[in-house]
Amino acid sequence: MNGIIVIDGEASYVLATLGRIKSVLSSWEAAGYEMFQPEEEWVFEAVSGRSCPRCLALNGRFYLGDEVARAFPHHIPVSPTEVLAQLHRNCGCYLRWRNMKEVLQNRLHRELSVIK
Ligand SMILES: [Zn+2]
Repeated sequence: MNGIIVIDGEASYVLATLGRIKSVLSSWEAAGYEMFQPEEEWVFEAVSGRSCPRCLALNGRFYLGDEVARAFPHHIPVSPTEVLAQLHRNCGCYLRWRNMKEVLQNRLHRELSVIK
């Protein structure tokens, strides 16, 4: 089931697992969420009517997380899943993180299997 984490078992197991999830999330909060990891998929969205030919040519193109900072050195984060591309003066084009749920779910599963 996509986007759902199932915790099944005895009450003590469920409570222990919830406790582990809470500690993983706390450590993420404490460390800050690092943007642009390799497993992330970001898609370029040109703003119609306001884009230069360079931006229009990139519309719909995918970038892996670790490519974004290199390809868009002047980007400005506006939310955890959106950055302004800033490819040119008055560029209003965005990159959006399209597989956030999947990536965060995989990270959580990975960290839970390490913590135990
Ligand atoms: Zn643009």
